[in-house]
This record gives sequence, structure tokens and C-alpha cells, in this order.
Amino acid sequence: MSIATINPATGQLLKTYDPMSPEQVDAAIGRADEAFRTLRRTTFAERARWMNAAADLLLRDCDELARLMTIEMGKTFASARAEVAKCAAACRFYATHAEGFLADEPADAKAVGATRAFTRYQPLGAVLAVMPWNFPLWQVMRFAAPALMAGNVGLLKHASNVPQSALYLGELFARAGFPAGAFQSLLVGAEVVERVLADPRVRAATLTGSERAGRAVARIAGQEIKKTVLELGGSDPFVVMPSADIERAAEVATTARCQNNGQSCIAAKRFIVHTDVFDVFAEAFASRMDALTVGDPMDPATDIGPLATEQGRIDIEEQVDDAVRKGARVLCGGQRPDGDGWYYPPTVITDLNPTMRIWSEEVFGPVAGLFRVDSYEQAIELANGTNFGLGSNAWTRDPAEQERFATDLDAGSVFINGMTTSYPELPFGGVKNSGYGRELSAYGIREFCNTKTVWMG
Ligand code: NDP
Repeated sequence: MSIATINPATGQLLKTYDPMSPEQVDAAIGRADEAFRTLRRTTFAERARWMNAAADLLLRDCDELARLMTIEMGKTFASARAEVAKCAAACRFYATHAEGFLADEPADAKAVGATRAFTRYQPLGAVLAVMPWNFPLWQVMRFAAPALMAGNVGLLKHASNVPQSALYLGELFARAGFPAGAFQSLLVGAEVVERVLADPRVRAATLTGSERAGRAVARIAGQEIKKTVLELGGSDPFVVMPSADIERAAEVATTARCQNNGQSCIAAKRFIVHTDVFDVFAEAFASRMDALTVGDPMDPATDIGPLATEQGRIDIEEQVDDAVRKGARVLCGGQRPDGDGWYYPPTVITDLNPTMRIWSEEVFGPVAGLFRVDSYEQAIELANGTNFGLGSNAWTRDPAEQERFATDLDAGSVFINGMTTSYPELPFGGVKNSGYGRELSAYGIREFCNTKTVWMG
């Protein structure tokens, strides 16, 4: 894949970049190593000052940066601006809380025959971050903010279709005051990841993206005995039970499926609805999906822009066509529009069965699968019946049922009567093929730390 900006709204190639040479990559790793020696000796207060300065820069650059993201991957300008604000807030969150999250934790010294015993969290060194294009800023920031605050340094290998966002991020932290080399962007293709990860100066890796990419990076890291955090795909269930507020559920379902033009790992993808409320939910949901405005992502009236890549649209079309051929019924959408750009309409599809690809694959676009179930047990079986386990949603006003869903849904998060979202205050990650490890909160910042036991006699 070439490293280039192609506007998904037009299909026009705007800018191409030469990948960095092996010597340039080696020099960047050297700078990272050098920066680590400096950064690890700085105080939380110094790092917090720089992190807050990074937040200020993000907000100052907000419109320019949002426009860049919209041009590179097609998200609406409004959602791109919101992404910038969310990133600035995450920087401030870790600037405020990192020191507390990583404070020494005293243990029972007497029980271990010591005069003093405690756990100390220390940074590991350079961490390679392999990141996707769907949230070009947020995916990176939720790694970078905690990593830098812990005293680690970062090497970003961003997706090849968002090089301008990558370059911006590669300069941001140095502009904010962090030592040069503390966070750099490597403009390289995926084939260079192995060499970077094998370098002894690189201590760990984090990857957000497809299962395929996750497996590749985990394989190399396993060989090199290096820690990884993987945040892979999801096929989140959105369960609607008879006691739910159906209108509200349908409204949130629409946003949950179509956020980021349908390209979010935690987008609700499988809508599992109790038969008692199936028809009324299906009608409310499909009519809302159908009413969304698809068009130019820079236009404030647009709800849904194009898919990020031509291949992304081909994948969606093939998944829908396969289901229709095998007997699925389309309630709205289902046909690509004529004209330029990689647009695909909000689609609701039902009468699904396990022979269809859509049953088991992640659908990375605004296509909702709608399933009918007769009972709580059936809903749980279907919800948990995939290889994924990232987020999950359940809609019910019955307190006992809410408790059961919180326990029974096999996923990294359960949201009851609300949309799955990532918050700096809460851990984020998955189970099963959705990956392992956690980002955000205190759990996220400790992933790339040496949890050191200190025993003093
Ligand atoms: P990829 O997983 O291929 O890309 C994500 C990142 O991984 C990119 O930086 C990519 O680099 C890199 N990468 C890809 N292959 C390898 C490899 N073998 N070794 C090391 N790094 C690699 O995502 P795609 O864009 O291809 O999307 C395909 C599917 O992935 C989507 O349809 C969706 O299902 C899922 N996805 C999930 C995301 C999530 O948030 N969990 C985000 C994006 C995609 P390069 O761009 O240079 O190939």
C-alpha cells in the first residue's frame, strides 16, 4: 500500500509520500532511545506541563486538523472537531492523574519480613504504536498521552492512508516541550514493522486494527518476548428487551451504528431484538437510518460521509450482496449510489442466518444486522456467539435484567441504556479475538510500565 492522501469524497489522489529509508528508521529509533534517557528522569510536573501544552496546541489547531482528517478519511468535519476536543481532554486527564495512577503502592512489609515493601511503576522505554485510520488522532492519543506521562517514548507507525495526520502527530509533542524524539512518526509501510519491533531499543508494541494485523504483530512480539496490547475489531451486540424505551433505543442505535460513517470498532453492529418489540423497533430504527443525510463530509448538513477507502466499500457491498443472495431482507439502503466518492447508504438488513458472511464477520460501514429472539437466554447466546468481544449494549428498564446483562455479556464493556463510548476514566479493551490488554484509565497507563517489587530488609 502506498503512503498517500486520497480524498474518499472524490477518489482524488492529493499527495504521496516516499517511505522512510532503513537508515532513517534506524536514526529515528536512536533518537527515541536517546529521548527515553532524558524523559525518564523528568518529573510528573514537567511532563504534565508539556502534556497540557499539547492539549492547548490541539485546540488551537482544531479546525485545520479536523479538515485534514476529513480529507484523509472522510469523517464529517463536525465529528473530526469533536475528536480533536476529545484528544485534548485526554491529554489533560493524564496530565492531572498520571502521578496518582503511578504512585508507589505500599504492601504489608511485616508479612514479607521486610522493614518496607512496595510496588513502583516505571517506564519501559520505546513503544511502537501501529495505528489505524478510523480515528486518526484519538486512536493515537489514547496511547500517547498515558505513555508519555509514564515516561515512555513513542514510535508511531500510522495507517498508510493518513500520512498528514501522522506527520502532525509526529511534531505535536516536541512542539509542546517534550524532548525531541520522545514521540516520532515513522512513515513506513506495514512490512517495516517486523524490523522495528525486533530492534532491542524498542521494548513493546500496541496495535489497533484488524485481527490480521494484530496476529502479525503479536507473532513478531512473541518471538522477541515483547509486551503487546491489541485492540482489534468488534461486532458489538445491541440487545433490546421488551421493557426498553424503544424510541430512545432506536435513536441511539442509529448513532451507535453510523458514528464515524460506520467505521468504529465499538459501533453497535448486531441488533438483537426481543420478538415482543421487534416490529416497532425495526420500524423506528429503519426509518431513522433511512432519514440520515449522506454526502460531502465538509457540509454541516451531512450525517454520513464516504467510507475511508475504496476497498472498504467493496467489502461492505460484498457482505450485503452475499446476505441478500442467501435470503436476507433489506429494510433500507443496500445499494451504492452512482457518482464519485466511496459512499454507501445506511442499511438495515434482517432474516439473517449463519451461512451469511455478515453473521460472523465485522461489518465496517453503516450496515446494521437485525436479529429476532424470543427470550433473554436466546439474546445472550446470540450476543456472545461470535469470536469478538469488544463492547456491548443492552436496553432494558428491568433492574434484575440489567444486572444479568452486566455479568452475562462476554465483552470488554457493557453499556446499559446508553451508547458504548470510550472515556479516559474507564478501561477500554476486549476479550476473545477483539484483543487483550487495556487502554485508558489507570489500567491503560500501567500496561507499559515495569511493575517493580521493592523489598527492603
Ligand atoms: P489494518 O489492520 O490492516 O491496519 C491497521 C494498521 O495496521 C495500519 O497501520 C496498517 O498499516 C497496519 N498493518 C496492517 N497489516 C499489518 C501487518 N501485517 N503487520 C504490521 N502492521 C500491519 O486495517 P485496514 O485498514 O486494512 O482495515 C481492515 C479491517 O480492519 C476493517 O474492515 C476493520 O474490520 C478492521 N479495523 C478495525 C479497527 C479498529 O478500530 N479496531 C480500525 C481499522 C480497521 P498499513 O496502513 O500501512 O497497511
